Amino acid sequence: LRLCKTDMTKLSNLEFDAAHIWHPYTSVSNPPLLHEVTSAKGVRLTLADGREVVDGMSSWWSAIHGYNHPKLNEAAHQQIDTMSHVMFGGLTHEPAVNLARKLVEITDDSLQYVFLADSGSVSVEVAIKMAIQYWFAQNKPEKHRLLTFRNGYHGDTFGAMSVCDPVNGMHKMFEKVLPTHLFAAAPECRDDADWQDSYIEDFKHLVEKHHHELAAVIVEPLVQGAGGMRIYCAEYLRQIRALCDEYHILLIFDEIATGFGRAGSLFAYEQAGIVPDIICMGKALTGGYMTLAAVMCNQQVADGIAADGSGVLMHGPTFMANPLACRVAAASIDLLLESDWQTQVSTIENSLNSELTKYRDHELVKDVRVKGAIGVVELKNPLDDAMDWLPGFIVEQGVWIRPFRTMIYIMPPYIIDTADLQLLCDAIGHILNALNSTER
Ligand code: PMP
Repeated sequence: LRLCKTDMTKLSNLEFDAAHIWHPYTSVSNPPLLHEVTSAKGVRLTLADGREVVDGMSSWWSAIHGYNHPKLNEAAHQQIDTMSHVMFGGLTHEPAVNLARKLVEITDDSLQYVFLADSGSVSVEVAIKMAIQYWFAQNKPEKHRLLTFRNGYHGDTFGAMSVCDPVNGMHKMFEKVLPTHLFAAAPECRDDADWQDSYIEDFKHLVEKHHHELAAVIVEPLVQGAGGMRIYCAEYLRQIRALCDEYHILLIFDEIATGFGRAGSLFAYEQAGIVPDIICMGKALTGGYMTLAAVMCNQQVADGIAADGSGVLMHGPTFMANPLACRVAAASIDLLLESDWQTQVSTIENSLNSELTKYRDHELVKDVRVKGAIGVVELKNPLDDAMDWLPGFIVEQGVWIRPFRTMIYIMPPYIIDTADLQLLCDAIGHILNALNSTER
């Protein structure tokens, strides 16, 4: 569809969008059904046609305090009136220092150094660079590969893609340019009570065979997100930590989705009682206001990188430590710590447990999983064929849920009340029934 400028002005927002704009993982020649959002407040999104929907997605795990929060708005306003951005090379500023202080304070004592990156994917790139640089500086450049497990997701940039699940990630298309890393079977244990040593066998085998070339292990602790929405036990993480220590491999936790309370503890690693050498966080870092991520590492990693002659970490994006984002992130952490987020998250967890497990026996359902403020209904078959009518149907239920592949999942803002959470859970039931009637 080729348009001249006069034609463009006649197009509605949705028409222009369909003609010119890419959305996540979509085709411009077959644009997806979209809903236009005009404003958002609390847990509700207002659509251009006036409808309001209850948000079950927290804008992909990020809007933990809900939308349009007065305290976060105030922080953004104050910062924008002072200084929206300034380069971080050769300069520093209070918003970055203040945020870094808080990050050092709320994480384990060993995590001392903070690198502020632009997005979750970029923070994964930085974490991978840290690990590879660390071994390079130790005169062990052969330790440059990564080990992870299947069904992981770490982002869409090349380094991050290379550790995403090799089947449901994007390896096939990019295999000629992606570094080849190692993939252990996805963890099978649901909780510590299930633990069997056989669960770690494949992982252990790969460590034993490849430790001389492994720079780091990178995993999403306790909850695998976009690669499969799988939940696994803390014992697996303890076993990984012990193997990494034994075989001199760095451990990177990608807490971009699990961080800031989502999985029931401030960071997922706390539930395992172990600490990674490098941690990535993003998404809820700014309460969903804008893009910002952070990578933190321990003294060993920082000193190790510095052991090289020049000792510099080779990364420094234009918008590194953007003051506006840092200021909002600091306000979001304050808001979280002042709130009773533990009760909010466990109340959500209890409701999801009682409401979603009802669907376990539904004929289309393969599994139901709940962890913290995350609820997943996994179907037996992919939803691809339903995607032409399902997004419209979901909005008609008064909710915003965005299923993918075989998953219908929700991770609402922590401030959601019982009635709105019930609406989300009921909507999943309506979706299942609608899918059932179209299948027949
Ligand atoms: N890691 C994990 C665990 C994620 O869930 C995501 C985002 N879905 C990323 C990395 C990538 O973050 P971003 O989309 O901000 O680049």
